[in-house]
Amino acid sequence: MKFAQEFRKSLQQEGYPQKWIDSAVPYGQLKKCLKKVTKELQEIGLDKDTLSQLTASQRDPSAVAFHYHLDGKAADSKHFRPRLTFFIHIKDGVVVDAELTPPTRDFLKQIASKTVDVEDTSATHDPGQANPAADPNGAPHVPHSEEEPVPIQQVEVPLVFDSEFFEILQTDVSNLDALQEEEQKRLGKEITLLGREINQATIPSKGRRARGDLETWRNIFELYLDARIFFSTRESDHGSRTSTQAVEQLRWFQDQVLSKKLIHGLKLENSRQAYSRFLNMNALLLQILKFQEINNLAVTKILKKFDKRTSLGVSREFPVTIKSHRLLAGSVAKDLCAQMSNDLISVVPQLDDYLCPICFAVAYWPVRLDCEHVFCSRCLVKMCRKGERFCPLCRADVILRAGLEHFDSARAAFLREYFPKEVKEKIRANERERNREIFGPDYSDSLCSVM
Ligand SMILES: [Zn+2]
Ligand SMILES: [Zn+2]
Repeated sequence: MKFAQEFRKSLQQEGYPQKWIDSAVPYGQLKKCLKKVTKELQEIGLDKDTLSQLTASQRDPSAVAFHYHLDGKAADSKHFRPRLTFFIHIKDGVVVDAELTPPTRDFLKQIASKTVDVEDTSATHDPGQANPAADPNGAPHVPHSEEEPVPIQQVEVPLVFDSEFFEILQTDVSNLDALQEEEQKRLGKEITLLGREINQATIPSKGRRARGDLETWRNIFELYLDARIFFSTRESDHGSRTSTQAVEQLRWFQDQVLSKKLIHGLKLENSRQAYSRFLNMNALLLQILKFQEINNLAVTKILKKFDKRTSLGVSREFPVTIKSHRLLAGSVAKDLCAQMSNDLISVVPQLDDYLCPICFAVAYWPVRLDCEHVFCSRCLVKMCRKGERFCPLCRADVILRAGLEHFDSARAAFLREYFPKEVKEKIRANERERNREIFGPDYSDSLCSVM
């Protein structure tokens, strides 16, 4: 299937809001404009073969023939102006460059004669200078010859449709960026709101059902983090996911939630509603990602087509020149995922965030050292006994300075409220360990006597 068709079809099939479809990359319009660009260049003898031949000849730095440059520093900072500048040798009023075809030479001669007083650089080569090819705006190098060096003239070729093409493309990319920003803000607000609601509903002191739902949300979010749906922080597949991968991961997550019967575990009506809103959010995020991908692809395709027809090399220059923080940078999914973990997932405390970095059990009683690192009191006692002075995480000299005032009682209360099971288990483990120290390694408490 041709890309234009494929693009149109996927815009129709995915159920995007009309507003999105209206701002999608105007691929057909750009294609039509590209025809005019090609024709315009052909008329002045700059067909793609001539230009590609000239590009090939530029590998020799002494024979820079032209620069095509998307000028990002135009007066209106939102738009840029493409500039096609030729460096030609003119001798006795005649363009002498061998690579150029006769009609191109004629054309360049014509505009050169009009712009002679403005653009004439007449720079002759100074052998002491650095290679001018390194500086795209510098005066080009004139080949050595026994005769007097031929002066070089810089000629800018006016291109009407070329400017029009980039005007359309740039305007659309800016519009798409604005649209994505708007969607990002809207979804971001919803994420924060949902986080607050779940937080309110699951305060443990509100009763048994709140505590049960808190536990279920914790399991749901744990699975969600494991799924790494839109973004992976794992070393093996670090980075943003494609929409195809995201669909797969989202499906895995939903299957897991179903097979573990977690939705049944949500007893409060508020929690159930929150879960379906959470799923809708993910579906919307997926849609944003898909829309971004297909438009991004459309930009890549049209620029490739542009280069194929003109040999001007824009597919390299355009993405660098254009200022697109969202569409081309693809940061929306990443940003929203970050917000999801800050404003939503973190409202249901995860045990991983409260473990002692030494024994990997819940850090109870929590001792907060002067360096702000928190350990369980048991591990700290053992470090003191061994005469260790430095925090194992940051190497600050803080351990021997720890005293009663370093007990973090606010955190202890929080842990008792949010992780009652884990705290009880840790207290028992601490007691067992202490008793073994007192009564010897064969000591076993009643709980373990069965073993
Ligand atoms: Zn510990
Ligand atoms: Zn530390």
